[in-house]
Amino acid sequence: MSESNGLVVMGDRVVVMGGGSSGTSVFYHLAKFGFKDVVLVEERCLGCGQTGYSSAIIRTQYSHDETRKMAVYSWRFLRERFNEETGCESPVFHEIGVAYGAGDDQYEEVKGLVSKLVEEGVPVELLDPSEFSEKIHPIDTSGLRAVSWEPQGGYGEPHTLVSCFSKAGVELGGTITNDSIVGLDLDHSGRVRGVRLLSGSTIKASYVVNALNVWSNRLLGKYGLEVPLTIAREDVVVFSHPHHRSGPAWADLVLGFYSRGEGETSTLVGGLEPEQLEKTANIEPGVYDPIPHDIIIARGIASKRFKYIENSTPKAAWYGFYDITPDWMPILGEDPRAEGLIHVVGLSGHGFKLSPALGKITADIIARGHTDLVNIETYSITRFTKTRQESKFKYKILG
Ligand SMILES: Cc1cc2nc3c(=O)[nH]c(=O)nc-3n(C[C@H](O)[C@H](O)[C@H](O)COP(=O)(O)OP(=O)(O)OC[C@H]3O[C@@H](n4cnc5c(N)ncnc54)[C@H](O)[C@@H]3O)c2cc1C
Repeated sequence: MSESNGLVVMGDRVVVMGGGSSGTSVFYHLAKFGFKDVVLVEERCLGCGQTGYSSAIIRTQYSHDETRKMAVYSWRFLRERFNEETGCESPVFHEIGVAYGAGDDQYEEVKGLVSKLVEEGVPVELLDPSEFSEKIHPIDTSGLRAVSWEPQGGYGEPHTLVSCFSKAGVELGGTITNDSIVGLDLDHSGRVRGVRLLSGSTIKASYVVNALNVWSNRLLGKYGLEVPLTIAREDVVVFSHPHHRSGPAWADLVLGFYSRGEGETSTLVGGLEPEQLEKTANIEPGVYDPIPHDIIIARGIASKRFKYIENSTPKAAWYGFYDITPDWMPILGEDPRAEGLIHVVGLSGHGFKLSPALGKITADIIARGHTDLVNIETYSITRFTKTRQESKFKYKILG
């Protein structure tokens, strides 16, 4: 680290690689911290990576204690402070509530989680499925023992988040460059000294933040600095049901799908099954098209819980990719193999909702060498040779 009397010199240049929810949040938080020379490099457009395909559900119901700290911090930030802090006028957060439907197998886990969240000051309650169906949203209660109900959860607007974080970062003095990073500039000891661009120039920097998501190893692989990622496809289908109102966000621990209301009378549906993901693991982005088969599967599963989806009309379908680590938890902090290289990667399907915490933690690490928000060791890339971090849920995507 470049330090003066123990304090980081805020004049150090930091390059942020990638302009998705992670990169733009890091960019904003560094600028807010007082870094005067922060450069974000994006090769296509801001939010055009996996962020643009996100279902963007924002929830705090994580069984993993450290990740839940990030989820609670980020939920509060997005719900209460984002617009004021960034000066953004468009709403970024839609408070539609988030529910988990638990069967007998998941009951104890969900009950324990609700108690922890209540202790941590998050309004969540455990409801009888029929009570949820009567008071909150009509469901078929088959196979459910309880529903955990987080009324202040919801979903976000990915492009609004990216646009407002980046705009606020620029207003605080940061710079955004539209170019491809084709190389790292490393010194003889392997320390990162900057990045090389397709246009031919080099940007010298004291720190380089990897927020390249599924594209990380395309660059890092050139230097033997791969991060352990499985790239897996996630399909999303939106169904229109004009005669039935949209529901809250829903994670079905029994049937293995998630959904959320989209506008007044549509529902977005995606899968929770790791097996489904593993089947598609490591296919090349760009060689797959959503097919009617996926739409039929999504409708078949979701209509078991929400009867009105049976006769709904598919309105949109797309897919994106998750950057999944072996334990489905992020890789954060400095890479011991290359001093100055800071990771925000391996977000494993959690990255949108965690983006405020990811930005704050990364800025803390670069500016102060530590963060109070989480135990950063938990997310170190070195953990894959030590203790595994893991969700207690069967569906690791729930964290
Ligand atoms: C279908 C789907 C549903 C999801 N649902 C949820 C959800 O409900 N809740 C949730 O919290 N998360 C969800 N996620 C996960 C979340 O959206 C992602 O984890 C997060 O948005 C990733 O952001 P990112 O900034 O890390 O990556 P990205 O948005 O992919 O950004 C990486 C950027 O790097 C750029 N780039 C790549 N290579 C280079 C290069 N060489 N030079 C310059 N730029 C480069 C890319 O163009 C891209 O813009 C979902 C993801 C998908 C795919």
